[in-house]
Amino acid sequence: MSLAGKTAVVTGSTSGIGLAIARAFAKEGCNVVINGFGDAAAIETERTKIEKEFKVKAAYEGADMSKPAEIAALIHNAEKTFGSVDILVNNAGIQFVSPVEDFPTEKWDQIIAINLSSAFHTIHAAVPGMKARKWGRIINTASAHSLIASPFKSAYVSAKHGIAGLTKTVALELATFGVTVNCISPGYVWTPLVEKQIPDTMKARNLTKEQVINDVLLTAQPTKQFVTVDQVAALAVFLASDSASQITGANISMDGGWTAA
Ligand code: NAD
Repeated sequence: MSLAGKTAVVTGSTSGIGLAIARAFAKEGCNVVINGFGDAAAIETERTKIEKEFKVKAAYEGADMSKPAEIAALIHNAEKTFGSVDILVNNAGIQFVSPVEDFPTEKWDQIIAINLSSAFHTIHAAVPGMKARKWGRIINTASAHSLIASPFKSAYVSAKHGIAGLTKTVALELATFGVTVNCISPGYVWTPLVEKQIPDTMKARNLTKEQVINDVLLTAQPTKQFVTVDQVAALAVFLASDSASQITGANISMDGGWTAA
C-alpha cells in the first residue's frame, strides 16, 4: 500500500531532522503538518515549497510542544483539515548541558515537557483515530542517549530513555490495531544546530574544523562521520511502509556504531 494520501504530522519540523522527515513523507505523497518555531516568513517559504515540489497539501501549526492544550489542538486541527492523522512523528527536542547540581529546575522541566511529555500528549490525542481506522504509524525521534548516557545531560538523557519506554509501552497496547510504534536513535546528525557550533568551538579550543569534528564532536562515533538528516528521514519512511508492519516497539540505532562500543 502506498503512503500517498495519508496525513503525516511531524513535530519540530521547521528545521533539521524534522524538516527532512516532513519533506520525505511529502515526497511519498502524504499531506503534511509541519510544526516548530522560527521566522514566520522562512516557515511559510518551506511550507509552500513542500506543496509545489511534491504536489501535496502542507499545513503549519505553531503549537508549543511544552503546552498540552496546544498539542491536543495540533492533532485535532490536523484531523479536521485532512480527515485523519495516519503518521505521527514525535521529533521536537531541545538540549541543555550542565552539571546536575547546577542544572536549572526550569530547564529540566522544559526538556522533560518538550522531549518526552509532548509525545504522550500527541499520542493520547491521535491514537483514537488510528485505532478506529486500524492503521497508524508512530515514530519517535529518540537518540543514542535513549540507550546510553553522557555526563551533564541529565534531563536530555532521562527524557530520551523515557521516550524509549513510552515507545515500547504504546507498541504493546496497539499491537493488534495495525498501529506500529517505534523509535529511531540517531548519533550525531549534521543539522544546522551542530554546524553552527563548529566556528565557536574552533576558536574556544584553538582547533581546526577537522579537529573539532573528529576529536570533539565525533569522538564517540566509530565511523567518524555524521548521520545525515536524509538518512534518518529514509528510515522513518521505511517504518511507515507495509514492509515494516511487523516492526513495532523497536529502538533502531543509526549512530555510526556509537552504541556498539
Ligand atoms: P533542530 O534544533 O534543528 O530542530 C528542533 C525542532 O524542534 C525545530 O523545528 C524547533 O523549532 C522545534 N522546537 C523546539 N522547541 C519546540 C517547542 N517548544 N515547540 C515546538 N517545536 C519546538 O534539532 P535537530 O537536531 O533536528 O533535532 C530534532 C530531534 O532529533 C530532537 O528530538 C533531538 O533530540 C533529536 N536528535 C538530534 C541529534 C543531532 O545530532 N542533531 C541526535 C539525536 C537525536
